[in-house]
Amino acid sequence: MKFEKNIKIIIPEKIFFQLQECSRNASPNESCGLIFGDIQELKNEEGYQYIYSAKKFECIKSSKPSPVAFLMDNLEKFNEIFEEAAKKFNLRLISIFHSHPGSAMPSGVDSNYMRMLYDWGDLRFKHQIWTIIDGKKKKLNGFLFLKDGIIQIDVKIQK
Ligand SMILES: [Zn+2]
Repeated sequence: MKFEKNIKIIIPEKIFFQLQECSRNASPNESCGLIFGDIQELKNEEGYQYIYSAKKFECIKSSKPSPVAFLMDNLEKFNEIFEEAAKKFNLRLISIFHSHPGSAMPSGVDSNYMRMLYDWGDLRFKHQIWTIIDGKKKKLNGFLFLKDGIIQIDVKIQK
């Protein structure tokens, strides 16, 4: 898988702990949630750099608890969270988070969802980083679906 160092998500340690807690509480099932923040586009000699900065995390109860999949389909709850993030905190969705019991790489199902959201008309879900944590090793990876497929991006935990 291609690694793109010019796309980066910065996760403050406090949020990283919240992701771990969310994952722990759902175990042995997969946990999921939404990360809000902002996205900066910077230009340097090599071209563009995209920095996603995490500011707020919402752990969401999976609608279909399972150790191999997650489902966020409560649209009413979604809209409530989106509205609060936008109006109260002036933040946008930057990442869809979920956990795996023993890997931090996208599964086949994840890849299909990533493609689906990319193709879907709702701009709130386009260009979202998929963050996946390995619940055991506490390893966090980030992925993005672009027109040529999935790429891995840089994840930085900030102390
Ligand atoms: Zn997955």
